[in-house]
Amino acid sequence: MSDAESLFERIIAREVPAEIVWESDTVLAFRDINPQAKTHVLVVPKKRFRNVAELAAEPELLADVITAAAKVAELEGITESGYRVVFNTELDAGQTVFHVHAHVLGGEQLGFFGRHSG
Ligand code: AMP
Repeated sequence: MSDAESLFERIIAREVPAEIVWESDTVLAFRDINPQAKTHVLVVPKKRFRNVAELAAEPELLADVITAAAKVAELEGITESGYRVVFNTELDAGQTVFHVHAHVLGGEQLGFFGRHSG
């Protein structure tokens, strides 16, 4: 497994430090090291799948990830103001860590998304 694949495994095993926001038996949520919004938390299933399409093979675990994203929003106080849940999938989307994770972004007005502006 490459470093980019195993990084989140090492965070789950507490071998790499992270600011943990919430945890259950199946999911870990921790702050993104390079936040793209005032609130930017990653929600990671402890069992590794490459991307969200592969995670869908275990619908209960996929639901755990989405439920955890909503829990994170609640803990961060952004349920009412709003938030975005993003699964980057493969290279055009900018996926760099190939252990599926939901980005939970909010805490301020978010920009549009889609085609690169540059
Ligand atoms: P993606 O580009 O969708 O694969 O998202 C990977 C995310 O992991 C990026 O937003 C990175 O900033 C974040 N990241 C990389 N290393 C760490 C780390 N050690 N702790 C927390 N977040 C990280």
